[in-house]
Amino acid sequence: MRKALYPGSFDPVTSGHRDIIRRTSALFDQLIVGVLHNPQKPSGAFAVNDRVAMLMEISHGLDNVRVCAFSGLLVDIARENGIQTVIRGLRSGQDFESEMQMARLNRQMTGLETMFLAASPEYVHISSNMVREIGRFGGDLHGLVPGRILSHVSEVLRAE
Ligand code: ADP
Repeated sequence: MRKALYPGSFDPVTSGHRDIIRRTSALFDQLIVGVLHNPQKPSGAFAVNDRVAMLMEISHGLDNVRVCAFSGLLVDIARENGIQTVIRGLRSGQDFESEMQMARLNRQMTGLETMFLAASPEYVHISSNMVREIGRFGGDLHGLVPGRILSHVSEVLRAE
């Protein structure tokens, strides 16, 4: 079985993340979307369980997608779950620089491969960081986050 892992913070989930999940789920037998977190650090704007719930909500109908929360090294998580490939999205040269280092380190450590998907033009400018900024000021997040979680994301950010 060809299994891929799409790891990230997903704080919160955006339309760009959903695009990568949809496109990747068509390429592999199983896609595990992993909310990576460090239990020693503050949880972020959204609780880890909430991020998992949002990812499950937007993956509705994609039968080969599973969502889990993980902490620890990516190479260990991959090995423990029988995953051969990590998926990352590339938006910019800035993403490229940091992603290359991580991909090379993971490959050197255990042979874990990384596959990159080019961000779709309609989502390339969207980041969780910008969504948080806009949402905290009560801005309209329509189009930036999937419709199924729009009101929830807006409410949580406005209440911060
Ligand atoms: P991280 O904290 O690991 O960067 P993110 O939740 O910000 O986690 O992103 C997870 C993955 O999704 C990364 O590979 C990132 O490049 C990708 N990604 C984020 N936003 C987009 C987008 N708009 N289009 C395509 N890929 C994206």
